[in-house]
Amino acid sequence: MNVVIATRNPEKFRELKTLLAAPRLKAFAQVRWRSLEDHPSRPSVREDASTFRGNAVKKARAIARFTHCLALADDSGLEVEALGGGPGVRSARFAGRHGDNAANNAKVLRLLRGVAASRRGAQFRCVLALAGPRGLLAVTEGIWRGRVAEAPAGRRGFGYDPIFFLPRLGKTSAQLAPALKNRLSHRGHAARAMRRHLLRLLT
Ligand code: IMP
Repeated sequence: MNVVIATRNPEKFRELKTLLAAPRLKAFAQVRWRSLEDHPSRPSVREDASTFRGNAVKKARAIARFTHCLALADDSGLEVEALGGGPGVRSARFAGRHGDNAANNAKVLRLLRGVAASRRGAQFRCVLALAGPRGLLAVTEGIWRGRVAEAPAGRRGFGYDPIFFLPRLGKTSAQLAPALKNRLSHRGHAARAMRRHLLRLLT
């Protein structure tokens, strides 16, 4: 059975595949994981919904309809309490240019200048949607709570990781080993919940 992970980003493809597939579960041996790179003539899907869920569902439905396969799509981002939940669905383009991580981090730090630690609460949110050719099958969500650091730290990860501080660990998520990040992260939680839905469909 083919499952298309609706991303062109090879890192995200690998990460989601690792999080979703449980190699010791026989049911997953029949899955051939595909990415959008395997479907060059796919329709382009605009991520213009006002929620993570809206974007993930829209992508999963469109790709499942086009490929006639199961399709899994995600949307994720950072929600900062002092910014009324922003940047939220605008996380990737908060400072203007899509994917300019350094500018996005600098903008969050600038907007929170002078804000006390107790008011710097933030969370990452990830929504995963699974659809088949006939429609939506499952939606899962994961949240990872922390707070906005005073300054960037760490070189691992991507996006807002250098400014996402975990008080209990005394580190930012850019200072965590990938396996630990996967265990704790919003994407890890959403993926493990989705794995249970996939398992039901495969058995
Ligand atoms: P997308 O889900 O690939 O559209 O990601 C949206 C944006 O959210 C990314 O560009 C990052 O800025 C941010 N983001 C989502 N997950 C993470 C994470 O695990 N670490 C850091 N930034 C993240």
